[in-house]
Amino acid sequence: MPSLDPLTLWMAAAVLHGFSAMVWALLGGFYRIAPRASLWLCTGEFLLIPTLHCRSCDSFWPGSLGLWLPGLLHLAGLLALALGVAQLLRLRPPRLAGWAVAALGVIAVLAIGGGALGLLGAAAALVALATASLLWRHSGGERMPAGARLALVLPFVLVAAEALAGVWSPWAAETHSPMLALLMIGVHLWLTLSLMILAVRRLWLRILHLSQHDALTGALNRRALEERLSQLQARQRRGEGFAWIALDIDHFKRINDQLGHAAGDAALQHVASLLMRQLRAGDAVARLGGEEFGLLLPNTSLAAAVALAERLRLALVQQPLSWKGQLWPMSASFGVTATRGRDAFDLQNLLHHADCLLYQAKEAGRNSVRSDSSEPA
Ligand code: GH3
Ligand code: MG
Ligand code: MG
Repeated sequence: MPSLDPLTLWMAAAVLHGFSAMVWALLGGFYRIAPRASLWLCTGEFLLIPTLHCRSCDSFWPGSLGLWLPGLLHLAGLLALALGVAQLLRLRPPRLAGWAVAALGVIAVLAIGGGALGLLGAAAALVALATASLLWRHSGGERMPAGARLALVLPFVLVAAEALAGVWSPWAAETHSPMLALLMIGVHLWLTLSLMILAVRRLWLRILHLSQHDALTGALNRRALEERLSQLQARQRRGEGFAWIALDIDHFKRINDQLGHAAGDAALQHVASLLMRQLRAGDAVARLGGEEFGLLLPNTSLAAAVALAERLRLALVQQPLSWKGQLWPMSASFGVTATRGRDAFDLQNLLHHADCLLYQAKEAGRNSVRSDSSEPA
C-alpha cells in the first residue's frame, strides 16, 4: 500500500472542490441548466475549499481565525449546497433561505463570542442531514427509483457523520488518517456527481415534457397522444376498453377576427385548462391542431364518456372567455366513441368515426354532443 501524503491529499480535495465549482458555474451560467441551483452549488463548493484540512500542515489561517473561521465556512458551504439542492428539487427557497441565513447569523454570533467549535460542527452535521432528508423526501417523483434516491442521500449522511465525529471525538480529528481523507474525497466526488446527474435529469425531464406537450396550452401533442393510444390499444386486447372524445371550439375564427390573435390564444388556454380541471388523473387531453382537442379516457364506457362530454359542454357555456374586461361566450361541438369490450377495432377508424360524429354535431347547429347512442341529427 503506497503511503498517502497528507499535503497531496489536501491539494487533491481542493482541486476537486474548485473543479466542481467551475462545472456548476459552467452548467448554470453558460448552459443555463438549473441556473439558480447551480449558482448556490458553485458557491457552496468554493466556500468549502478553505475549510479543507491538512492536519499535519501549518494552518494558513492567521492567529485565532484558524480556530473558528474554517468551521463557519464549512457550515456556510453546506448551507449553500442545501439551498442549491432545494432549488434543484424546486422547493420554496425563500423560506428555507430565510431560516438558513438566520441560523447562520445565530451560530456566527455564538461561535465568535464563545469559541463554540462543537456547535459549528453539530450545525454543519445538522445541515447535511437536513439536505439528505430533503433529497430523500422530494426526489422520489417522476419515476426516480429508490436505489437512485439512496445514492443521492448517502454522501450527505457521510458528510454529516464526519462533521459529528469531529464534534464528539476531537482525538479522531487530531489523528485524522490519510485513508479517511481519501475516503472523504471519494464521498465528495460522489456527492457532486450525483447532484450533477440530478440537475441533468431535471433538464432531461423538461425536454421530455416539451417534446410531449403543446407549448401554448400544455395539452399533450399528437406524438404523445399516439404513444398513449398505442399503449391503450395493447391493453384493450386484455379487456380494458377506452373512450375517445373529439371536440372542436365553435366559431373560433370570430374570436381571432374580432378580438385579435392574442385573444384566440387565450381562448385556447382557457378551454384546455377547463378540460384538464374536469378530467380524472389517468385521462389525457391532447391538442390535435388549431382549435381541436381530443380526450382519451381509459376504462370508460361510451355512456360515461357521453355524460362527461355533456358536462364539459355545459361547463364551457357557463364559463365564457374573459378578455380585457369583456366576456366572450364560448361553446364546442363533441363527437364521442368507445371500444366495445374485447372486440377488435381499427384505431384510425375509431378516431375518424369520432370526427364524423363531431361534424354531425356541427351540422346540427354546434354546441352539442354526438355519439353512436345519440339521436340522428
Ligand atoms: P367551426 O365552428 O366550424 O369550427 O368554425 P371555426 O371558426 O371554429 O373554425 P375554422 O376552421 O373556420 O377556424 C379555425 C381558426 O383557428 C383558423 C385559424 O387561424 C385559427 N387558429 C388555429 N390555430 C391557432 C392558434 O394557435 N392560435 C390562434 N389564435 N388561432 C388559431
Ligand atoms: Mg372550430
Ligand atoms: Mg377546427
